Amino acid sequence: MSKKWTIQSIREYVEKNTDTKLLSTEFTGFSQKLDFQCACGTTFQKPWKKFKENKQQKCDVCQPPKESR
Ligand SMILES: [Zn+2]
Repeated sequence: MSKKWTIQSIREYVEKNTDTKLLSTEFTGFSQKLDFQCACGTTFQKPWKKFKENKQQKCDVCQPPKESR
């Protein structure tokens, strides 16, 4: 199932489902790195694919990029 994401639907998703804020104003594709601001105030970049599918929705400090076993 591939929902067609737009910068607007992404912003709504991020607002409704996370404490993170979307800073980017355009979305060109799943591999594009979007700018986010974590609830702690740190800004970070994450491709939408990872943000959405891998639930990497915080900065590297709040959510270290390590797979839990
Ligand atoms: Zn953080």
